[in-house]
Amino acid sequence: MANEQDLMERIVALAKRRGFIYPSSEIYGGINGFWDYGPLGVELKRNLKDAWWQDVVRCPPPGPDGKPLQMVGLDCSIIMNPKVWEASGHVVNFNDPRVDCKQCKARFRADKVFTVIAREGENILLSVGVEADHEDPAKAVALAAANAKARRRLEEHADRLVWTVVRADRAGQGVAALCPLDGGPLTDARKFNMMFKSHAGAMEDSASLVYLRPETAQGIFANYKNVLDTTRIKVPFGIAQIGKAFRNEINPRNFTFRSREFEQMEIEFFCHPSQADPWYAWWRDARYKWYVDHGLKSSKLRLRDHAKEELAHYARACADVEYEFPFGISELEGIANRTDFDLSQHQKFSGRDMTYFDDETKERFIPHVIEPSGGIDRAALAFLCEAYCEDEAPDENGAMQKRTVLRFHPRLAPVKAAIFPLVKKDGMPEKALEIYTALRPHMTAFYDEKGAVGRRYRRQDEAGTPFCITVDGQTREDGTVTIRDRDSMKQERIATDAQTLLGCLQDRLRR
Ligand code: ATP
Repeated sequence: MANEQDLMERIVALAKRRGFIYPSSEIYGGINGFWDYGPLGVELKRNLKDAWWQDVVRCPPPGPDGKPLQMVGLDCSIIMNPKVWEASGHVVNFNDPRVDCKQCKARFRADKVFTVIAREGENILLSVGVEADHEDPAKAVALAAANAKARRRLEEHADRLVWTVVRADRAGQGVAALCPLDGGPLTDARKFNMMFKSHAGAMEDSASLVYLRPETAQGIFANYKNVLDTTRIKVPFGIAQIGKAFRNEINPRNFTFRSREFEQMEIEFFCHPSQADPWYAWWRDARYKWYVDHGLKSSKLRLRDHAKEELAHYARACADVEYEFPFGISELEGIANRTDFDLSQHQKFSGRDMTYFDDETKERFIPHVIEPSGGIDRAALAFLCEAYCEDEAPDENGAMQKRTVLRFHPRLAPVKAAIFPLVKKDGMPEKALEIYTALRPHMTAFYDEKGAVGRRYRRQDEAGTPFCITVDGQTREDGTVTIRDRDSMKQERIATDAQTLLGCLQDRLRR
């Protein structure tokens, strides 16, 4: 755990140092739960969004029947008529249970705080409050936080210990909820609505109250009829949207994982009620595969089906794509069969007809909805954590040096190719600039002529650039350059004419 914490600190430091992610408004001391993406981070995020849009909207995989999937995109306003949020249930139900420490006044999400107790008979060997996403990792967090003496005692008595783990909002019955910071007693859980409020227009009264959307999904439901009426699309079809969402999280934490402003990538897939189960299974597997295909290949990725008791009252099935971050296993994306709940609610609250008429079967029905709902920032963080690697690379003199490398999938890598002249003379910079200029219209390229070439390679490794092209003394003689692979560090010579170089890079980027 300590190592994992250390690893996360190194990833956060690299993200800052290399311009992936900065704390928001840092010159004023930052603001909790808000982050800015720097030059490399914004490219990573854009690549992620482009890949998703391409694979989901423009060219999705064929559906379960082998036919092309019908998908369209949408871009809704962030602020909508507040009735949307009444219909969706967010005004009444978008609450997180909140607890406060009576001693230090710190505030926590009650379902993310656990009291962990280890007993040997009547004897209590450990009783602490910890923060964790689920009950399972809470015990490990408690053990990691215990001092060496306590840990030794627990290990000595391990086979006789009885462990109890109780969530703060389920405490009582002899177990007190304890503060993870100072061990003080926690208040009972209280409801806290997580929607950010604002006012539209000059008057600040209840009539002008509006919300910053806590999810992009409701904008899709609100426009479902518009899309049906203005396109020739037929059920089954999906509407996809990428956009900002805002949640006044009680306890933003784990870097960008739980932020107050973030981006979502969401799909609402509308189908006949009788087809909802197979479509759910298809989307669940397709979305899991998408993460694997983009580099989350390790055993850290998993697909977890929700147990019946975990499901929302309207959901028929739900699964989470989860990733084992250095701070624990957490959700990247949820795939849910939401039945006709949302469209029925909007029909009820808006008075508009949300039914679909199938002119072939002459059947009228409210479509059922499969919702794959993911977070761009969480995905970016998972790809960053998975890509992060420390190994060794030779310097200019052949001596092995520690290097940090981000092994991003080429499709996600912020910069695809870096171009260097070996030295700043003998026409090398001119040739390198010529190559750089030829590549720029086709891919994100970077030109660098400063410092020793080994150091330039290592800087690109740290940024996750898959290929470095170097113009050297041989270039003028035989018209070739070296192309170095980030992962294998192998260099090959290839011809410098734009066609060959571009073809070679594009071929490798596709692999
Ligand atoms: P959690 O239980 O972690 O709060 P959730 O189940 O409430 O997440 P959803 O409402 O299903 O999340 O939102 C869909 C996706 O939006 C999540 O899978 C996640 O990727 C992203 N997301 C939700 N809340 C946040 C947040 N505070 N910061 C960053 N991303 C988020």
